[in-house]
Amino acid sequence: MLLLEVLIEHAALALDRPFSYVYRGKKPVQKGYRVLVTFNHRPSVAYVLSVTETDKTVAQLEEERGFSFSEILDVLDEEKLLNDELMTLVDEIAEKYFAPRISVLQAMLPPSLKPRLSSLKAPKIAYEAYVDVLSDDETDLTPKQIEWLRLVVREKRIRKKDFRSDTILKTLLEKKRVKLSYEEKTRLVLPEFREQKPKSLTHEQQAAVDAIWESSDSVYLLEGVTGSGKTEVYLTLSEKVMAQGKTVLMLVPEIALTPIMVEYFSRRFKGRVAILHSELTPAEKYDEYRRIARGECQVVVGARSAIFAPLSNIGLLILDEEHVESYKQDTMPYYHAREVALMRAAHFNAKVVLGSATPSLESRARALKGNYRHVRLPHRINEKELPETTIVDLLNPMNLDRESVMFSLSLRQKMKETLAKGEQIVLLVNRRGYSSYVSCRSCGHALKCPNCDISLTYHKEDGMLKCHHCDHVEMMPKKCPECGSTHLSKQGFGTEKIEEEVQRLFPGVKTLRLDSDSTKVRNRVAQVLESFRKHEADILIGTQMIAKGHDFPNVTLVGIVLADIGLTLPSYRSAERTFQLITQAVGRAGRGDKKGIAVIQTYMPTHYAVTLGASQNYETFFAKEMAMRKIQQSPPYTYLIGITLSSKDEDTVVSTAYALSESLIKEIGSVATILGPTTPFIPILNGIHRRVLLLKYKKIEPVAPAIQRVVATLGTKSQVHLAIDVDPIDF
Ligand code: ADP
Ligand code: ZN
Ligand code: ZN
Repeated sequence: MLLLEVLIEHAALALDRPFSYVYRGKKPVQKGYRVLVTFNHRPSVAYVLSVTETDKTVAQLEEERGFSFSEILDVLDEEKLLNDELMTLVDEIAEKYFAPRISVLQAMLPPSLKPRLSSLKAPKIAYEAYVDVLSDDETDLTPKQIEWLRLVVREKRIRKKDFRSDTILKTLLEKKRVKLSYEEKTRLVLPEFREQKPKSLTHEQQAAVDAIWESSDSVYLLEGVTGSGKTEVYLTLSEKVMAQGKTVLMLVPEIALTPIMVEYFSRRFKGRVAILHSELTPAEKYDEYRRIARGECQVVVGARSAIFAPLSNIGLLILDEEHVESYKQDTMPYYHAREVALMRAAHFNAKVVLGSATPSLESRARALKGNYRHVRLPHRINEKELPETTIVDLLNPMNLDRESVMFSLSLRQKMKETLAKGEQIVLLVNRRGYSSYVSCRSCGHALKCPNCDISLTYHKEDGMLKCHHCDHVEMMPKKCPECGSTHLSKQGFGTEKIEEEVQRLFPGVKTLRLDSDSTKVRNRVAQVLESFRKHEADILIGTQMIAKGHDFPNVTLVGIVLADIGLTLPSYRSAERTFQLITQAVGRAGRGDKKGIAVIQTYMPTHYAVTLGASQNYETFFAKEMAMRKIQQSPPYTYLIGITLSSKDEDTVVSTAYALSESLIKEIGSVATILGPTTPFIPILNGIHRRVLLLKYKKIEPVAPAIQRVVATLGTKSQVHLAIDVDPIDF
């Protein structure tokens, strides 16, 4: 009989310990396989940590250990899910981020291999299930069901995978509003790119390649202004690494940027490139994953989670636009792809290249201290000029007229001139939806999310109110729910309203819109970008998704409709965020032969993040912001750990938070500052009350074990759920 130690699929710190089962079946089973077990009377998937032979009977084992043993129900795999390097990586990540090991495994593996019950249904075979419309009749449907039905009606067909809730789909199927159809799916096929010979490098590019190639350092910060040709440096280094028989991991900050990077790499390294990102279907992900694991490709290009690609013999890991916050995962495990890259590089003795025009303060500070080797590309290829920027003060009434409250006179003037020349415009708005809040003109009642108590956003496209923090949706009411008045006013603005306003001000102009609503529909992001590049529209309106990386040669005007939304949010990074947004957006204008113009509308025209962003002055911003961080004792001068406690019961969460804070002060009060408990920006999420503690410290050694001990004392019985975020970006 075999004795198995397993991790159960439920991702809670309290369950992050081995559970014992026995197995008398015939299937081979080893460490690293998944098995089906019963846990708390329910079937669960578990991940095997160890397998030992035993001569004892179940009764003897139970007698010896004092608890009862169950038998595993089935062995689910025929080979190990992860190689040894990745198995070690699970432990390293779990330790650094205080994350349950099972949550790390779930983050690492493609859907059909995740140790999780739902993964058993994820298809490995290649067919795609679609949801098609049968009827748009909305009677007896709930708002949530209507929201989805409207999406399907608008799109005609969506993938079943994009339906976030099985129960809603089930109801819509039962009520005959939609039907399912299955289509055999061709495996992921990359477009046929023509092979491209390397460009001959400029002196600067060559010097950067040599500096990285010839030194024995492991981490490099490649700081190169926008348009300085960083991609060519990545390609040249990759070629050298592959010539040594090693592999390359190339990360981009978000899926919208993968197609272009995939194209660059495929042109240079035909047939040797794999892609991993969230728009692939489960079957495609499984395929690419297996292909990489079998050693059939030498380069992997992808977004954050591609950092876990099962490449062996890695020689180079590259993070393009390393300053972008999406490299940090915002759910458990809260890992940062840069830190995981450093862990993997250490294992393979590989090099890490972090590229950016405007590095994160952390990376730049590490480069100054000599922890990272600093390599620069200070000039644009062809010495192209940076765009001319104008800051428009929205508080000055001279800048606005009755025609529009969102578009200043000068932005409108510039738009008119640009359109007249047949050139294109990018408009940036930091919020999706139509209006950011709805309230009653008669009684002042504001419509809020019943779960989170924050304002609901009106989405005109489907006529619904949506919460941007939880999944709540409801129909836009015709009358005020408090006083019955029909005068509901929609205030604030998002991408939809800006699009409407543009069409009102410039009748007949063609617009495209891109925000995270667009990502609900597969490949929509790539289609919109492609269509804009082909000049099928004059104006692209979007959230910060469109600010980064894209190269639109015909765009000569970039307008930031409101630059400082970020500055009013409580985060030590808000100035850095605003600066990054502005510099990236301004960098989008005038990439081709024509000179670019950027117009930045703001209520804080003299804030240093705005003025220095507008002038693309990273050096001064870095100096000034570092001085601020030093005064505040924020990163990179200190490290942070955020602990969020949550519970259905407010009293329990408050008393536990105080108890936790007291024990932390007692244990590590001399080496760390413990702030809180405080009430977070969103105090109730999905009906769950939340409190946070923030730890500031300079050395992790005494802090980590203290957190482990304190968490352990909380135990499994607790009604309070803990989420520990190491190096958080939102506190
Ligand atoms: P970055 O990522 O640093 O902003 P890119 O890699 O996008 O810059 O390069 C900017 C432009 O310069 C691209 O159009 C690229 O094709 C071109 N380019 C890069 N290196 C060279 C070179 N050595 N010779 C000619 N053109 C180059
Ligand atoms: Zn009212
Ligand atoms: Zn909500």
